[in-house]
Amino acid sequence: MKLGIVTETRDGEQRVAASADTVKRYAGLGLEVLVQRGAGVASGVGDDAFEKAGATLVDDAAAAFGADILLKVQRPTDDEMGMLRKDQVLIGALDPYPHREQVQAYAEKGVSAFSMELLPRTTRAQAMDILSSQANLAGYKAVIDAMAAYNRVLPMMMTAAGTVTPAKIFIVGAGVAGLQAIATARRMGAVVTATDVRPASKEEIESLGAKFVGFIPDDAATKGGYARALTAEEQKKQAEMVAEHIKSQDIVVTTAQIPGRQAPRIVSGDMVASMKRGSVILDLAAETGGNVEGSRAGETVTTDGGVVIVGARNMPSKLAPASSVLFARNLNNFVALLVSKGESGPELTIDTDDDLVAGALLTQGGAVVHPNLKS
Ligand code: NAD
Repeated sequence: MKLGIVTETRDGEQRVAASADTVKRYAGLGLEVLVQRGAGVASGVGDDAFEKAGATLVDDAAAAFGADILLKVQRPTDDEMGMLRKDQVLIGALDPYPHREQVQAYAEKGVSAFSMELLPRTTRAQAMDILSSQANLAGYKAVIDAMAAYNRVLPMMMTAAGTVTPAKIFIVGAGVAGLQAIATARRMGAVVTATDVRPASKEEIESLGAKFVGFIPDDAATKGGYARALTAEEQKKQAEMVAEHIKSQDIVVTTAQIPGRQAPRIVSGDMVASMKRGSVILDLAAETGGNVEGSRAGETVTTDGGVVIVGARNMPSKLAPASSVLFARNLNNFVALLVSKGESGPELTIDTDDDLVAGALLTQGGAVVHPNLKS
């Protein structure tokens, strides 16, 4: 049984779906690992490291695409779709909700496709949770990038020439990314405030030494622990709070998301205009609609009032060596649910009684099987 690792071809994607460590683990299961030459270079892994770990290097993508199990970071491009084949297992961050026609295409090709973003976020799933592993690094990098765009200093500095006051950083949305952003900003010596709407968030924010601002609406968390969209009245109350607070902030990092929907708009153009010249806003939600009016994914814009708005785009890819290691390990833990080391070689079983397997499975036997994506 073969497992394939290919070079990611989507624009700006630097990560790779395996590490030398996971290649070794796959080989240990008895899988033959095919790695496309150069697949790991952008994330700091040379062909020699993969080869030493037990992989067979192949020259062209098609050879790796032919494997029984194909691991990807991002969903296949149109060209790559042409290389998928019947009865193949595809595992990656397939982003199915905005790309339902592609989910249908996996079914038509007879591919068993698993979308790692759909894993239920249970305790057992933690070691496979790509959303958490990648968001954690994105939150860290968001503060680093915001700081780079800010031409002043973060910590308080007491010098013979006078005291430099610490920067004030406001984190909007304190999920996995936001909490890491808080921790990073605190480590840099900034004065950190944060807001969220999930009931558990106030304590989580305070446990990291930041100050909670805002309000928690009634029943703001769904059964899965995620936030729900706010009502118009709640949005108004939140807007008043943000408008008042943001005026005094030097850096704002926004991370608010509602799963399966557009990111909520939290910072309006008027709020941006109320900030001081030289302030920085980094919108980590820019790719899913944006928390900030005027942010554009992958672009940095400076408003007439001198506020710099950084629209994040694929933040985990900017830390590809670190994010690939975690992503690869998440996938490896998931593959271990599907493949066992049988007496005469590795055995593949798609056990849909397992909630994690069923939770991530999009298509099987020529049909779309995920309840959220069946038409
Ligand atoms: P996410 O990426 O969906 O959203 C980011 C944050 O934005 C969330 O904290 C959300 O509450 C917040 N948000 C949404 N609308 C908002 C608004 N209008 N104003 C302010 N904030 C808003 O969330 P996530 O980071 O993936 O995590 C969400 C929850 O899941 C967290 O409680 C996290 O601890 C939990 N989680 C659990 C597990 C597990 O148990 N295995 C794993 C990961 C995350």
